[in-house]
Amino acid sequence: MSIDMPRFRAALIEERARIEKALENLRDDVVEEPAASDNHLAETATATLDREIDDTLEENSTRMLAAIDAALARVDAGTYGTCERCGREISLERLEAYPWASLCIDCKREAERG
Ligand SMILES: [Zn+2]
Repeated sequence: MSIDMPRFRAALIEERARIEKALENLRDDVVEEPAASDNHLAETATATLDREIDDTLEENSTRMLAAIDAALARVDAGTYGTCERCGREISLERLEAYPWASLCIDCKREAERG
């Protein structure tokens, strides 16, 4: 398979920058969040929920950054586009949709099934 490495590298770097910016925004939101008052239980609950969503987003984003860095390392190593589990090629459609994918669709499904 001939993969257009420079194109995927550019896509990965672009996605990385986008996520880093989103993470920055998340952290700014947390700092600006006003202190919750006991008189506003509903608001407190909402703020807590927002915080939980932020935490999930941050966790997902952090994981994404790690996946993107790993993908960039595979580009450099020349192993990009090869499934880390079975060693087969990852389909081009999958890489187009998820440039950071390290598993082929079959292995990904198996991993999700546990
Ligand atoms: Zn595989």
